[in-house]
Amino acid sequence: MNKITIAIDGYSSTGKSTIAKQIAKHLGYVYVDSGAMYRAVTLYAMKQGLIHADDFNVEALIYQLDQVKISFKFNKDLGFAEVYLNDENVEKSIRTLEVSNFVSKVAAVTEVRKKLVAIQQQLGKDKGVVMDGRDIGTVVFPDAELKIFMTASAETRAKRRFKELMDRGDKVTYESVLKNVQDRDRLDSSRKDSPLIKAEDAIAIDNSELSIQQQFEKVLRLVSMALEDTE
Ligand code: C5P
Repeated sequence: MNKITIAIDGYSSTGKSTIAKQIAKHLGYVYVDSGAMYRAVTLYAMKQGLIHADDFNVEALIYQLDQVKISFKFNKDLGFAEVYLNDENVEKSIRTLEVSNFVSKVAAVTEVRKKLVAIQQQLGKDKGVVMDGRDIGTVVFPDAELKIFMTASAETRAKRRFKELMDRGDKVTYESVLKNVQDRDRLDSSRKDSPLIKAEDAIAIDNSELSIQQQFEKVLRLVSMALEDTE
């Protein structure tokens, strides 16, 4: 059977990674979380003291970018690949609200995007990949056979992310999570380089009222149609 490229873009906390992981597992495809890569570079900038609440030393980050190694290693127990920053597993430490609060600033830097897009294109060069992010269908894989654009109301998304963070034991308020989701949507959609927009040929799915199973079945139908088109 032909292999295709599946691009899943959309707003923050729309459940992109949940559906992307399910679909990749079902098809035996590789799943790539492109957001994890931007988060890992952000963690690097934080560790180096390059980014603070009102100050971001962009030049220093660009200068040091060659020293930032981002890679993935498949974790059999989890069933997906975890992200590594300079050979350190950072899968957990990149998911904090603090990283979320800085990541959109780092993701707006063209040099960062160039570096990460090149890695993403390399990871997907043989097709058989499900990648989620903000610019996968528009910039990384403009020829992807299936493009999905996920949306849900800001409140629904903040509720989901809040629960995730609380379940991990992070001490956050619902209001701070809602603000982060709204701020990131604004920054990601308004940046100059590769803004978050729906690709013209992407299929929009609002999952505010969909269960995870309903969403899976809906996307699976789209996958079958895309696969039929390639035969
Ligand atoms: O997907 P996730 O919420 O983990 O992404 C974190 C951030 O990384 C986004 O808010 C966005 O600023 C950036 N990002 C991006 N392009 C991608 C994936 C993520 O700019 N393809």
